[in-house]
Amino acid sequence: MEVCCLASGSHGNSTFLSTGLTNILIDCGLCLKDIESKLYMIKKEPKNINAIFITHEHKDHISGIVAFAKKYNCLVFLHDKIFSECSFMFAQILSNVKIFGTNDFYFQDLTVSPFELIHDSVFCVGFSFYCQGKKVSIATDTGILPKQALMAMQGSDLALIEANHDVKMLIYGPYNARLKKRIASDEGHLSNEDAAKIIVELARMGTRKFVLCHLSLENNTEKIALFTVNNALIEAGYEGIVECAQQYNITKIFNL
Ligand SMILES: [Zn+2]
Ligand SMILES: [Zn+2]
Repeated sequence: MEVCCLASGSHGNSTFLSTGLTNILIDCGLCLKDIESKLYMIKKEPKNINAIFITHEHKDHISGIVAFAKKYNCLVFLHDKIFSECSFMFAQILSNVKIFGTNDFYFQDLTVSPFELIHDSVFCVGFSFYCQGKKVSIATDTGILPKQALMAMQGSDLALIEANHDVKMLIYGPYNARLKKRIASDEGHLSNEDAAKIIVELARMGTRKFVLCHLSLENNTEKIALFTVNNALIEAGYEGIVECAQQYNITKIFNL
């Protein structure tokens, strides 16, 4: 499989995943022009995207979906609760919409395993994608990672995990008290320390490649996030390759 984070953060999220036969996006929270140009940067044709998988209904994850799905006529997979919440929006692309619940399902040569996250949206999921013995998992926008989600992610060859904020930077940073409380809550976002604990657990279960996602531009830096996670891995006695996804630049293509 090939994986590339096209954008990650509160200004827009989208990740490209390809099996060679199947090309998908996980979330599409960028305008059409930006998604197209980022796909061209990795030499992928937007018209070859078969489907978009939605994690939740926040704007930074869905703002570009209607325009993209209309132009390229791709399928849009989403949980039934998200569909109900945003039915006015998805009515525009009703023939493209595919609803899923919490059971695993198949899409072409991909097995898709959604798992529930805890976030202040109507519903939020992470995904594990399986193909040809390889597994990629993605979990962002969750205040805590439920045990079931951790179990669902075990054995991933690549895990993309939210490391939204450094706790001290959030406390002393520019956000108002209400927003700080929301981000730090169990329905908010994972901190670097949270991500580090999860990554150590996943490393214990065999994962060695990690991408830190949804870093806050105000309350985090790549340097601090990487330092926190790498330190935790070293202290626990595990080796791992940890990289950061960025808001405005694509990552390298991860080949699995
Ligand atoms: Zn988000
Ligand atoms: Zn969100």
